[in-house]
Amino acid sequence: MMGSGLALAWAIAPAAMAKDVVIHAGHLFDGEKRSLQGASSILIRDDRIVSIEPGFVTPAGAEIIDLSKETVLPGLIDSHTHVTSLPRTGNGIAKTMTYSPLDAVLASTVNTRAILESGVTTVRDLGGLYGGDIALKVAIERNEIVGPRMWVAGEAIGPTGGHNDWSHGLAADVTRPEFGAGLADGPDAVTALARKEHKLGATVIKIMPSGGVVSMGDDPKAQLMTNDEIKAAVDAAHALGLKIAAHGHGKAAIDNAVRLGVDSIEHGTYADAESWALMKAHGTYFIPTLLTTQRLYEAASTRPETLNPSTVKKVLAMGSGAQKLTNAYKAGVRIAFGSDTGLGENVQEAALMVKAGMSTVDVLMAATANGADLIGSDEIGKLLPGRYADIVAVAGDPLTDISQLERIDFVMKGGVTYKRDGMAVPVKLVNP
Ligand SMILES: [Zn+2]
Repeated sequence: MMGSGLALAWAIAPAAMAKDVVIHAGHLFDGEKRSLQGASSILIRDDRIVSIEPGFVTPAGAEIIDLSKETVLPGLIDSHTHVTSLPRTGNGIAKTMTYSPLDAVLASTVNTRAILESGVTTVRDLGGLYGGDIALKVAIERNEIVGPRMWVAGEAIGPTGGHNDWSHGLAADVTRPEFGAGLADGPDAVTALARKEHKLGATVIKIMPSGGVVSMGDDPKAQLMTNDEIKAAVDAAHALGLKIAAHGHGKAAIDNAVRLGVDSIEHGTYADAESWALMKAHGTYFIPTLLTTQRLYEAASTRPETLNPSTVKKVLAMGSGAQKLTNAYKAGVRIAFGSDTGLGENVQEAALMVKAGMSTVDVLMAATANGADLIGSDEIGKLLPGRYADIVAVAGDPLTDISQLERIDFVMKGGVTYKRDGMAVPVKLVNP
């Protein structure tokens, strides 16, 4: 409604407001149609798209951003990040033991900037170290630091000895006060922790029904949360109006989480035909996270000394991970883009998705419209009047060459330009 009203205002009174900006786009992928449109003008007022017109139109007084040689797309959405990533690779255990929560959050401000400048304007951050992703989200919204829009899980919720039990594998007397913050055993404890994460500012709930890979001592194939615990988390999240994401490698954890109503399955390593059919029937999103799987596989194959021994064994058993996406795509499961990283290389996931058999247009949809649908926002993910002016551009055609996404040279978030001609644009930040 807001969009059409403003579009009408533009038609009646073409004189531009002080903050009007028009992007002249050579080609346009809007996240709605499955093909590129030709030359288009996107009128932006403050943080929103007002209208999109064919051809190059310039309202009087509007500042022109000339992307007439570029393909313009919605800002990308990475539906599985860890912006507080301190990967437990190499000297990972040392990092886990020597970074305070404050150190981790400050280090993560490098990540949030790198992610935004890579063209990812929104992330769904699924498990922040020490809940630091909530503080980062708040600081970005206050314009104190540079970063993407964030939906955040705070601490992921999992069982003692599971994927987010940070002291698992350490000597029994080695721990830190922060390590237990995401642990909950029994349905009541899970309910209480989901409610607590919401109270602390989480905008999505993340659970760990199966074991993990980079964690020590747990089995990815094992279901480590009971069905009652999974159900408690689903009910608590949905009662609070939040979506819930489930980390799932083993088939039992995946199938049960889908049946119990989670909104997305992350990783999906050992899903089989029955799992994909269940996900399709329930409308559950699948986030394949190929980039991290591939990185770990390369490390385990060529530099095993950079991973802990338990992880090397698990990674080699899993393989490079592409086949699961091939199977899910063929089965017609809804797919969203998620890299499982946080260091700014997130968009490299796209080429791996194409390599696994997805069409380029479906990968673009996974990284735009589907991400918005999974998150539950109608303000991002498409270039439409009324939505946020979250806009990126590349020199070539990503529908014929998906690797174009790795060279995004224009980034706008909420009407503010953060990157132009491949160079970061200094943005005025606010003193707290
Ligand atoms: Zn993850």
